[in-house]
Amino acid sequence: MKQEIRRELELTGRPTKIVVGLSGGKDSSTALVLLRRFLGNRRDVTLEAVTVDEGIEGYRPPSLEIARALCSDLGVRHHVVSYRDLIGFEMDRVVRLDPEAIPCSYCGVFRRHALNKTAVEIGADYLATGLNLDDTAESILMNVARGDVERLARLGPHEHVRPGLVPRLQPLRMIPELEVYLYAFLKGLRFHDANCPYAERAQRGRFKEILHRLEEDSPGTRHAIVSGYDELRSVLQAAWPAATLNACARCGEPTVHEICKACDLKERLRTLAGGSVDASLAVVSSGKTTPAVPDA
Ligand code: SF4
Repeated sequence: MKQEIRRELELTGRPTKIVVGLSGGKDSSTALVLLRRFLGNRRDVTLEAVTVDEGIEGYRPPSLEIARALCSDLGVRHHVVSYRDLIGFEMDRVVRLDPEAIPCSYCGVFRRHALNKTAVEIGADYLATGLNLDDTAESILMNVARGDVERLARLGPHEHVRPGLVPRLQPLRMIPELEVYLYAFLKGLRFHDANCPYAERAQRGRFKEILHRLEEDSPGTRHAIVSGYDELRSVLQAAWPAATLNACARCGEPTVHEICKACDLKERLRTLAGGSVDASLAVVSSGKTTPAVPDA
């Protein structure tokens, strides 16, 4: 992971703030613990964390508590942003309003929106996620299967800063999911080990199964997919250069259109709800910084 951090992160001595998208699960908790371990002693680096509360009863509340406790133990400032405050709709309500839709098609857009908006608001230079090797290989396969070459070219980590978009760090992207799990388990990290009730409706699950079978038949497949992709990345990016980003006319977040996808979906929900929406303004609540403790 140290190598991956060195490859993705350019530290020049100027103050650098990294915010970790922390769900409270094994991956993001491990990413935060290891980033703190490797970078926590640097005076030029500040680490913070943000948890997105999607509003999924029985699933997010316990993980939110775990994320809070971890940040408190590590002395890392913790921010929480909820869909209810940001979008005006919790995911449980989204599912009731649009039962035919795949919940993740809303949730993924809202999460990217929430994380980027929060990262910008707190002045982060980088947004780190806990995506592991399996997640990364799945994303590559999914985009290949859909023929979405443009998105494939834009998968993180991001080497270039684009206006309004906080570049992503993916320090665990070459570490298999099972190894992340083992690390978290052996280090005694408390993490939330449960599946979202809407996950089974996600397309990603099918790609997870395919990848699992491929890896069983031919060990090393996940590494090969990601390493092969890394070789092709610069070619893809040259052939599909990044489109110019505008500020969304409604929320100001970066988009290639006039209105961003999150505002589009929010509008759809508003229509489905017959015009009723709880809130539309972003609210980010910051936890207080707690004293630092030794590395995990
Ligand atoms: Fe959201 Fe889908 Fe993840 Fe559940 S599985 S938290 S609905 S993206």
